[in-house]
Amino acid sequence: MILENGVVRTLDHSMPAARALAIAGERIAGAVGTHETALASPDVVDLGGRCVVPGLTDSHVHFPTWSIAQRQVRLEGAATIEEALDRVRSAAGDVQPGRWLRGLGWRSGDWSPATEPTREQLDAVTGDIPTALMARDYHSLWLNSEALARADGDLAVAGGVVEVDERGQPTGVLREESAWRFRDVYIETPDDEYVEAMRAGIRLANSRGVTCVHDKDGWLGSLRLFQRLREEAGLTLRVWQSLPHDMLDELEAIDFRSGLGDDFLRLGYLKAFMDGTLGSQTARMLDGSGVEITSRAELEEIVRRGAAIGWPVAVHAIGDRANRDALDAFEATRDEWAPRGLRPRIEHAQCLAPEDLPRFAELGVAASVQFSHAPSDRDLADRFWADKTDGAYAFRSLLESGAVVANGSDAPIEELEPLAGIRAGVRRTIDDRPAWHPEQTLGVEQALEATCVTPSWLSGDERRRGKLLPGYLADLVVLSTDPLDDLDGCEVVATMVAGRWVYNPPPWD
Ligand SMILES: [Zn+2]
Repeated sequence: MILENGVVRTLDHSMPAARALAIAGERIAGAVGTHETALASPDVVDLGGRCVVPGLTDSHVHFPTWSIAQRQVRLEGAATIEEALDRVRSAAGDVQPGRWLRGLGWRSGDWSPATEPTREQLDAVTGDIPTALMARDYHSLWLNSEALARADGDLAVAGGVVEVDERGQPTGVLREESAWRFRDVYIETPDDEYVEAMRAGIRLANSRGVTCVHDKDGWLGSLRLFQRLREEAGLTLRVWQSLPHDMLDELEAIDFRSGLGDDFLRLGYLKAFMDGTLGSQTARMLDGSGVEITSRAELEEIVRRGAAIGWPVAVHAIGDRANRDALDAFEATRDEWAPRGLRPRIEHAQCLAPEDLPRFAELGVAASVQFSHAPSDRDLADRFWADKTDGAYAFRSLLESGAVVANGSDAPIEELEPLAGIRAGVRRTIDDRPAWHPEQTLGVEQALEATCVTPSWLSGDERRRGKLLPGYLADLVVLSTDPLDDLDGCEVVATMVAGRWVYNPPPWD
């Protein structure tokens, strides 16, 4: 197949642009002019002046959670708690008997007047339908009385917070480990429901130019769910799968190494958490505030054990203290992971002390960030991190320091939509305000590299994917405009994975 009459952005510096591209089977054959004569009767696709870029990767996705979130009551953007409650009231009417009412996306910091949610407010609109509403950052859970009753008082857990009222009774809000344990133990979602939602989720992701995801929901059973999808009809999305670090015992027992799998579904990396989040005010800060989920010493142990059986570690770190502890742990264990070629990463790297910023490049630890978080979090960051925002979401500084920077959405926290992420990285605003910390805005090419090229390096695929070069897998996106000239008008026209159109095959008019 030859794609011609457009602009091909290879994202390789040796030949950044071409007029046409030849594809043979599941791979790129080369730029036209060199290889097309080798093809018997090429299928020619007229790009009509459109642009081709490598397939987009979302480097931080909770894929099953995002897929299922497409079907829950959404509370994003509610300006008051009443508005949030109104949405819950209308959703309550659709819940089948015996089922849970689930929702997500609330953030009490968005509501005015300022208030914290309670179970009584929820009871008033849900009655006895068990109801669980996850906060936008997934670190707080708002429950009604019927839901709370399921736990029969079993709410407290190490690393968790149970909010209580003046009488010492739970308010209905759980945070961190308490929230996650409640969700895992007391709210059930059958596999069939996940698989159904993910089938639709993969189609939606393909329509947004996504050809690969780095999934973070290993703890929830992503591997099992993706395997089911692959067995059913094959995947049209490549998956670099994480597993929770507390599976190390099992992995060691059978000497299970990272990298096992095939071109579509491969394991992956270990996931750990240092701290909470900005929105829940549980990010671990150098001023002593926040919640510690994993200590520096514990992370060192995880990294060492992982390295011994070939697993890189991805660790969530938001606050400046959490990031320092994580960098310290990677530094202390460097002799064990670096010679094995492992590629560790810090997820989010949101708030960095100035002296820690260059350490990503020095140590060879990648920053797996979310461009879209900067403009979405700007008001919260200005409020909670007022004197520290110079080192917050410092994407350009990280890149200029020589760090490896990969972009993701953290969907469902932000929408799984890489073009929106690229725009957020380039503009650092998503409304009519000027750019937030404009010194950190990125060039379009930098943002594209962080979305196409770097994620492939993280999964060890830098010689097979992420660029449009001969021999590379033919994962690509046709865009309506060349994003380097017109990012505003740029939309996904079609998506190809392994040489097959998975969204909107040509011809296009
Ligand atoms: Zn995440």
